[in-house]
Amino acid sequence: MQLANPELLRTDSFIAGQWQSADSRFSVINPATEQVIAQVAEADVDAAISAAVAAQREFANSTASERAAFLLRWHQLVLANLTDLAQILTAEAGKPLQEAQAEIRYAASFIEWFAAEALRVTGDVLATSVKGQRLLNLKQPVGVVAAITPWNFPAAMVTRKLAPAFAAGCAVVLKPSELTPLTALALAYLADQAGIPKGVLNVITSSDAATVGQALTRHPQIAKVTFTGSTAVGKLLMRQCADTVKRLSLELGGNAPAIVFADADLAVAVQAVMASKFRNAGQTCVCVNRILVEESIAAEFSALLQKAILHLVTGPGVTPSVQIGPLINAAAVAKVSQLVNDAVAAGASLSYQAELALELGYFYPPTLLENVTSAMRISQQEIFGPVATIQLFSTAEEALQLANDSQSGLAAYLFTKDTQRIWHFSEQLQVGMLGINGSAISQAHIPFGGIKSSGFGREGSSYGIEEYLQLKHLCWAN
Ligand code: ADP
Repeated sequence: MQLANPELLRTDSFIAGQWQSADSRFSVINPATEQVIAQVAEADVDAAISAAVAAQREFANSTASERAAFLLRWHQLVLANLTDLAQILTAEAGKPLQEAQAEIRYAASFIEWFAAEALRVTGDVLATSVKGQRLLNLKQPVGVVAAITPWNFPAAMVTRKLAPAFAAGCAVVLKPSELTPLTALALAYLADQAGIPKGVLNVITSSDAATVGQALTRHPQIAKVTFTGSTAVGKLLMRQCADTVKRLSLELGGNAPAIVFADADLAVAVQAVMASKFRNAGQTCVCVNRILVEESIAAEFSALLQKAILHLVTGPGVTPSVQIGPLINAAAVAKVSQLVNDAVAAGASLSYQAELALELGYFYPPTLLENVTSAMRISQQEIFGPVATIQLFSTAEEALQLANDSQSGLAAYLFTKDTQRIWHFSEQLQVGMLGINGSAISQAHIPFGGIKSSGFGREGSSYGIEEYLQLKHLCWAN
């Protein structure tokens, strides 16, 4: 890695405004080369919690303008270091450099958005039925926040939680994924440069997520846990938070259907499905997971999709032409292979699988499966790999039933020109987000989040800051 600013590559935890080394360290691996790129310190979790608790009261008393000014400085620094940050991100997460750069811009956009939202937090003055009484609602920061983030968006999932927390006046203990801690540490370095008060941001790097998770969820002075990751860990955290009745936001797994009707513009549908399905090699929670196609256009649609898939270039993310990087680790490759093998054994047809000639790295070839059914495991869980699956339907009612036949309810995509149908599906689909004739649903402006087992709470948008605020009612007698 040739960084213009080598200071960005930090390998110690960040606690109370200090970089904290440790004898005990864990390795971060580049998934494209299988090489160790850094040895990162095992953090002292209790010290991080204490630092956040100590910083909370003063930070809550800072003005919204002060917090907005800090966020804007951080935003500028992130953009000024975009090229370096993207290199770090690609090295640890594997995604193509262009996608990494897009993620850094996306991550920065949350900081900018919440710098503005910090200034817009208001309360209410209510009407009253008792003479002389004044009724008011205050909005206050919830208190210390524990943020646990995944490896598939090592920058954006961090800023999507930290920026609203800071805007609202909450100190944070951040635990990034042990697979991708370097991007989070680089962002912390820039937050420090931007002048974040000491103890307001603490980054605990650790390879022992379960122990850290217990410490964070059991601590009485952590007011809220915000988590993005697997549904299994989300459920565990929810249970662990019960004893101290913490506020929670959970953004868990998805199983997004893309429903393609015969009247859709097929070129648009194929382009949108490709963009969503193969983003980050299929490793996003809003990736198209099931492509549901109306029977009458099945042959035409799959031919177009296959043509698009066979043009995908797979390889290390640092190679400029590459569109599909490696998966995050060997276990991910094994899981995707297993899902594909199970589906084929259950009757799915392997219409296309790219041939890869890469000796190192956790790569899985872009693949197209047809004749897939709902009973197959590949339709029931997140694939998290570059595998497109096509399932057919013959009526709109059947499409709706198939789409909703999932415990997950994060995103869906609908392709049709029929406005009546668009409205019907918009009302009936059990998801938090719906892409209509397009798949670009990720922006700082939109409320991102799901329903059902995909979790609750919204990130981004004007709703995002509410997750970090609590209401206090004042009943003032006279
Ligand atoms: P993924 O399938 O995306 O790897 P995980 O849910 O395993 O999802 O990981 C998301 C985040 O949750 C990571 O930061 C990971 O270290 C953390 N994590 C994993 N297990 C636990 C746990 N038992 N308690 C708290 N955090 C955990």
